[in-house]
Amino acid sequence: MNIGKTLAAALLTTVPAASVAQASWPQSPGYYRMQLGDFRVTVLSDGSVDRDLPAIMSDPDLVRDRYRRQHQALPARLSINCYLIDTGAHRILIDTGAGELFGAGVAGQLVANLRSAGYVPEDIDTILLTHIHGDHSGGLSIGGRRVFPAATVYVDAADPALWLSKAAEARAPAGQRSTFEQSQKTVGPYVAAGRLKTFEAPTSLFPGVRAIPLRGHTPGQSGYIIDSKGERLLLWGDVIHSAEVQFQEPSVTIHYDVDPKAAAATRGRILAETAESGMLVGGAHISFPGLGHVVRNTTGYNWVPQPWSSQP
Ligand SMILES: [Zn+2]
Repeated sequence: MNIGKTLAAALLTTVPAASVAQASWPQSPGYYRMQLGDFRVTVLSDGSVDRDLPAIMSDPDLVRDRYRRQHQALPARLSINCYLIDTGAHRILIDTGAGELFGAGVAGQLVANLRSAGYVPEDIDTILLTHIHGDHSGGLSIGGRRVFPAATVYVDAADPALWLSKAAEARAPAGQRSTFEQSQKTVGPYVAAGRLKTFEAPTSLFPGVRAIPLRGHTPGQSGYIIDSKGERLLLWGDVIHSAEVQFQEPSVTIHYDVDPKAAAATRGRILAETAESGMLVGGAHISFPGLGHVVRNTTGYNWVPQPWSSQP
């Protein structure tokens, strides 16, 4: 009996081709560097997740239509991007990915990519959360332990006031309960260590780092404007979940929005502002590294990705 052949046949018949490929042929390290004035920016991938967007967005027919017209598959594959700003004085990480919340091999790749980029978790002294949600704050702790032991975490006060409140958890719809549990598990260890600090956006946090309010998706969602020598970058968190849909149709909302009406209004406002100012933008769920510009067209907006560069 040819054991090799039998094993190979068994693998082919029982293991889906995609999982064989993933185990034996992982993606290359996901980091991307760019200089912003005096600051070194490293975009760090936490991986990608597939989401059935027609099932969770406010206009399923329109979502299906946009994906079909743009030759894009559904479920949609969404990047999870985090951003490291090395100012020289501080190493500031913006968002932390999903950690262990989404299971292995999908997301949770932030720390591996951070190490590939030449840093270790102990290097991070500051973490700025755009908001508290599993795919942004989930990577703060693994197994109840702080992944970034030297870091102080900053977030707009409205988010912990919701997601860390037992009273709010009791009142919340069933679909949001998991976010409360996940927040306590991953943000909680920093609260216990006295390493969670809150602010009220808009406010200046560090030289060259300013928080602006982008409320609606969560009550405290904030964007961070990074500014060095007149070069500016806005990291806007979850203003856009689907680039294929929401640049052209900012009114389309997603099930994860705590206040969908406010989320849509914020999106409309910030798209208009970034199209007008021409500011470089980094989006958490726009295809890695998620850097680009917003441009107005006759009925909505287009996303123009920043050209890839071999010279950061
Ligand atoms: Zn998100």
